[in-house]
Amino acid sequence: MGIERVTIVGLGLIGSSIARAVKARLPGVTAVGYDASEAVRDTARELGLCDTIAGDAAAAVADADLVIFAVPVGGMADAARAAAPGLKAGVIVSDVGSSKAGVGAALRAALPGHLVIPAHPVAGTENSGPAAGFASLFDGRWCIVTPGADAPGDAVAALIAFWQALGAKVETMDAAHHDMVLAVTSHLPHLIAYTIVGTASELEEVTESEVIKYSAGGFRDFTRIAASDPVMWRDVFLANKDAVLATLQRFNEDLTVLQQAIRRGDADKLEDWFTRTRAIRRSIIEQGQDDAAPDFGRKH
Ligand code: NAP
Repeated sequence: MGIERVTIVGLGLIGSSIARAVKARLPGVTAVGYDASEAVRDTARELGLCDTIAGDAAAAVADADLVIFAVPVGGMADAARAAAPGLKAGVIVSDVGSSKAGVGAALRAALPGHLVIPAHPVAGTENSGPAAGFASLFDGRWCIVTPGADAPGDAVAALIAFWQALGAKVETMDAAHHDMVLAVTSHLPHLIAYTIVGTASELEEVTESEVIKYSAGGFRDFTRIAASDPVMWRDVFLANKDAVLATLQRFNEDLTVLQQAIRRGDADKLEDWFTRTRAIRRSIIEQGQDDAAPDFGRKH
């Protein structure tokens, strides 16, 4: 199944990165973009993100072989309903939402009779908007595709080939399992960062200017994550509620173990724990998911 025309709905960080990567890596593919925000559409035109930036959703998706919804998770159903009248028969509908079971169900309910194959590129930054994207965002990163059991093999293969052409490595997974994995690797870390940064800014004994001045002690690295888009993350926690709460329960238990070790002066417990976590950091670097350069290899 050939993808000759792709429409990206939502031209923020992820949507604009897909558009840039299509232009850079798939010169034979026509890219059409749409965003609900007129200001974003204007910026997208100025940046030359797509071959065409359409003025409405249904016109944007007309004749598309692949439509990718790249809007916040809570806006997927509305975006799909707006696009529905323009979808052609046989189109592959996909998305990039950070949670998958709920988004897949919302898209299928909004688009009866159309094939929906959800996906999630596990790549991003703390920035948002069309100017924040870049073509190499997906290079070497995983994209998790969560096809339903009845998705035709050739359509799944076409979507996988599309993401691979954009530079990603692709894995297929059950949507519920995806949501549990991402609760651990992404959603809980964001919740912790939001908590720490909020707590530090409200301490009475330490002033906010001291927190900022001495942030290189560790706080700074949490602030990067805690600067992530508020709307996007509000929606992720609401959409992946069960998996996040299950992971949070486990985290609270482990925090209590460390709290006890500190109170009891259990040096061995602390050292064993920190040795294990250091090994995980090394594995991430060995597998190319980060590099060991100062500032955690952040270039953007
Ligand atoms: P973003 O930069 O905020 O961009 C989202 C864009 O979608 C905004 O321009 C927004 O316009 C537009 N939009 C909202 N509702 C719409 C609708 N109904 N129709 C058309 N456009 C609409 O967000 P992002 O970071 O690219 O995230 C997009 C999706 O990717 C989310 O589902 C997120 O979970 C997922 N994701 C994000 C990351 C990450 O690190 N950021 C990584 C992987 C996956 P307004 O600003 O006017 O609302």
